Order: sequence, then C-alpha cells, then structure tokens
Amino acid sequence: MTITPIIGLEVHIELKTKSKMFCGCDASHFHIEPNTHTCPVCLGLPGALPVPNKVACEWTIKLGLALGCSINQETFFERKNYFYPDLPKGYQITQLQKPFAVNGKLNIDGRLIRINRAHLEEDTGKSQHIGDETFLDFNRSGVPLVEIVSEPDISSPEEAKKYLGKIQQIVRYLGISDADIEKGSMRCEPTVNLKIDDVFTPLVEIKNVASLTGVLLAIQFEINRQTEQFKKDGVTKEHGEKTTRGWDAEKSVTFLQREKEGSADYRYFPEPDIPPIEFFKEQIEAIRATLPEMPDAKIAKYKALFLSDYDANLLAEDSAFSAIFEKILGDSTNPDFAKFITNLLIGPLKTIEITIDKINPLHFKNLFDKKSDLSSSAIKQLVLESYQTGINPLILAQKQNLFQVSDAGAIENMAKKIIADNPKAIADYKKNPQSIGFLIGQLMKASAGSANPQVAKEILEKLLK
Ligand SMILES: [Zn+2]
Repeated sequence: MTITPIIGLEVHIELKTKSKMFCGCDASHFHIEPNTHTCPVCLGLPGALPVPNKVACEWTIKLGLALGCSINQETFFERKNYFYPDLPKGYQITQLQKPFAVNGKLNIDGRLIRINRAHLEEDTGKSQHIGDETFLDFNRSGVPLVEIVSEPDISSPEEAKKYLGKIQQIVRYLGISDADIEKGSMRCEPTVNLKIDDVFTPLVEIKNVASLTGVLLAIQFEINRQTEQFKKDGVTKEHGEKTTRGWDAEKSVTFLQREKEGSADYRYFPEPDIPPIEFFKEQIEAIRATLPEMPDAKIAKYKALFLSDYDANLLAEDSAFSAIFEKILGDSTNPDFAKFITNLLIGPLKTIEITIDKINPLHFKNLFDKKSDLSSSAIKQLVLESYQTGINPLILAQKQNLFQVSDAGAIENMAKKIIADNPKAIADYKKNPQSIGFLIGQLMKASAGSANPQVAKEILEKLLK
C-alpha cells in the first residue's frame, strides 16, 4: 500500500492598507475599542454603496506578480451569499470567476508548487464568545483580504510549513501585510486527502487553525485519520467531493463540521454595485517595476559570492537584514569580505538591535583590511563598539592596544627568550612537533596577548629547526 498525501493550502493575507476595502474606515482592528472603526458600508446597512480601495487592488496585483502569476487585466467582484452573525450584509464581496492573479508558482527546495489564484475580498467581523454570550465586533468587517489558493501539490506537513514561511516572507518583502499568524493577519486552511495506490480518500478542508504549529498538527492528524479510516472500511468517495472539518487545538483533533459543500451553495453572482475593474498593461508594468528584489534572487546572488546555503538564507530572511548586508558590501565582489561581514552580522551584531542608518560601511572595510593584525575576539568587540559609538574601529583598536604585534624582529626577540627559558619544552618539541602549542602560549603570555599567534608560530618553528 503506497500512501501519498495530497495537500493544498488556502492562505488569507490581510492587507495593511490605511482604509478598508470598500469604505473610508480605518482598517486597523487589533486591540482597538470594538465597533469604533465602522460606517454604514462595513456594517452592511441598506442602501450603503461600496467603493473599491485602489491601493488594495494594486497590492493584490503586486503580490500576484511576485508569485509569478498572470494578471487578469479585466476583473470584477462577486457576492458570495451566506448567513453568519459576523457578516451583516448576508454576503461577502469576493472574486470567483476572474481573480486578479492566476497560475503562479513557488519554488520550495527545488519543487514547484503551483498557485491556482490570488483574489481580493473583504474580511468579516469577529465573534467573541464569553460565557453564554456572544459579542460582535465589526472593526475587522471590510478589511481587505487576499486569498492565495495553491494547487494540491504539497506532499508533507513540513513542505506545507515551508510554503507558508515563503508566502509570509514574500508579503513582508512587499510590505503589504504583517502576515502575523498569531494575530490573524495571516490565516491558513489546508485541504488534505490521500492517494492510496490508485484510489483517493475524500477531500477534507480544515478550518479554525490559528497557529503555524496548528497547521502542521492538523495536517498530520488528517493524514493519520484518513489512513486509519481507509484501513477500517476501505471506502473511498468520488475525488473532488469535499467535507469540512474543524480543528480543535486543545484536543489536537479535527471534527466534522459540514458535508458536501460546493461553490453552488453560495449562489455567487456579480456584485451589481461595483463596475468591472480594468488595469491597462502599462499600469501593470508600472506595478511590476516597484517589485523589490525577491528572496530567491537574493539567495542566488549571495551564493554567487561563495556564501554557504545557510548563510545566504539567513541574510535573505528579511528584507531589512539583507539591506544592511548589501549596504556594507557595497560594490565589493570579494568573497572573503562577504564572509567577513556575514560572520559579524549573524554573530556579534545579531545580539543587539541594529538599524541601517547607523551602519557605517567604511568601518567594516577598515576592520577587514586590518583583520590579520587583530584577534577574532578583538574584531567582535570593535564592531560592536564602533557601531554603538560611531567611532572608527581602528581608532578604538589603537586606543585599547588591540593591534597584534606582527613585527618579526620584536617577536623573534621574545621567542629566543622563551626557547632559552624552557629547555624541557624544547626537548618535548623535538619528540613531538605538536607540542609547539605550549611555546606559542608562553610567547603570547610574554607579549601580554599582543603577538600575532600565526607569526609567533612561524618564528618559533624557524628558530627551532
Ligand atoms: Zn466602514
């Protein structure tokens, strides 16, 4: 029996526009006094007319382009009809037939995950259950929301995690959303079924998953549950039939919510109050021109500087961090310099908050040029101090006597004295050349740590020959 999980992800990204999707209300809603950012439009009062938010439309196109999608120049909104207390209009304005973006792809460790679509819609309000009572907050009602739907190309919970991480990284690079799963500005609904030999288990959509760990646990739970179910009764349904299960985070189980649901149940129809929207080719190209360099391109660029996979990924992790690296690197293509900066950025400088404005590339260049005269611990100390004080690290090194003595004459004099004073160690060295470490240690001690250990070793070896 060969079991292959088939996983698709629907990801909702809340856009951080100033105002809501179809009205002028402030779109912020996290930790805001309930029902203070509302108006007749987002409360769904009769006769109120929606006006689309242009920035939200442009950001959706931008995201679509970043995901390698084709953009539909002509698009329109539709009404998805259903009743729920947090949806006062009785319908959600969304897109079904003509999403802004279609047919994209994401590269996850060399595997291409196809993206079916990215469409724009409005968020609903929020219900809060306290004791026996339910409270409704409509601050979130009408906040712009992009839904990204993948094809079921994901084959493990780990791959789902990487896919979500990548979506999060991209929208943050674009600066269009905080994509914070814990705060709900990024939400995810996995669909899971299994291919067992030649048959498929019924498709399950999982709702109410509120954390990244929850997504992984819920997918794994469904894989196990569907496997057991199949072993027990062997029944499979038509591929494509879908049931909805909720995720119970406390018990770590999914439970049945709704059976057999299709888009026909929502009676979609074109939104009569909003005319179709058209973007000209030139407008789309103008949006494309604002795309920043994306993480994959950055990683490839850093690897071309002979940085390791690990380093390149770490530097490209967020755009602010990579901007700092690139500011310091400047026009240099020297792999040693790139590695030197990387070590400092992911080493000592990672321990403090750094801002790009306070970074002085010249300080790094100076330190790099003099690195053979400074110990590695001195370099770490100097990079921190020069960042904090704004003083050139070489001036700091001078003041604190951190330059190592590489002057062969001075070191040779010290070495001669060490050799004369340690006849036993010399005899040991003749038997075992590895024991030179002891003599180097003595010399470092005699120089109060200022001798360059490499030069000291070479001179000792020369004298002992
Ligand atoms: Zn409003």
